[in-house]
Amino acid sequence: MPELPEVETIRRVLAPQLTGRMAVSVSVRTPGVIAYPSPAEFIAGTAGKTIKELCRRGKFLIIRMDRGMRIIVHLRMTGCLLITPEGYPEEAHTHVIMKLDDSNELRFSDTRRFGRLWLLDNGKDLLTGMDRLGPEPFDHIDASYLRQRLGKSRRKIKQCLMDQSAIAGIGNIYSDEILFSAGIDPRREARTLSQSEWQSLAMMIQERLSYFIEKNTITPEEYLESKGRDYRNTPFLQAYGRAGEPCKVCGSRLEHTVIGGRSCTFCPACQH
Ligand SMILES: [Zn+2]
Repeated sequence: MPELPEVETIRRVLAPQLTGRMAVSVSVRTPGVIAYPSPAEFIAGTAGKTIKELCRRGKFLIIRMDRGMRIIVHLRMTGCLLITPEGYPEEAHTHVIMKLDDSNELRFSDTRRFGRLWLLDNGKDLLTGMDRLGPEPFDHIDASYLRQRLGKSRRKIKQCLMDQSAIAGIGNIYSDEILFSAGIDPRREARTLSQSEWQSLAMMIQERLSYFIEKNTITPEEYLESKGRDYRNTPFLQAYGRAGEPCKVCGSRLEHTVIGGRSCTFCPACQH
């Protein structure tokens, strides 16, 4: 599932191509991907509108249009937004196509169909779950926030990092990476962390997410060619997906465990 760095990459690639474009027409082939309102209202509410801005909040993308309308997109597992020239070979499972006034198309495809689109007026977030999101990692996360929000929790620290109501945008990949860099064992209960560990965690949340956004940098051409799935930061991961391999810091064998139903990789020597 794309997490904050991937969604931010998508935003940076698509924003210059979308900003200022008008939606000439919109077709919805799979009604189920439109979470709100009805597909007919979605089409009527977007066609003829101009795109002002592409924003991100946690793992959500927000296409701001004129007259206060917003298309909210959550890609979930396999959702993909592409901007293609007209007539460009279509992805399998293309569910929504928006024709733009520069004769490009914005296409939403999704193999597993968990991704969702909402069309909302400004100020209305209740249906998306965006209203329950915690702060953005780059805005208001510091040691005192983390300690105040999570410091009494008996949940494992990895679960706390993935709690979208505590911090928006971190999932399975980057919780492993952040905890690895902070030297904190993911199996520890949050309430056992010391003040210096909260400080190191707050620092690593911002440092690691910035680092992986940077490593993910991709051109619009490369993005289109790879169908939005060429995540360039994979070679730079230190923990996630590397169970059984040697730790890049100390050489110990990385271990795998399951925390709250999610797979987790960590170094038993570097993380305490
Ligand atoms: Zn190690």
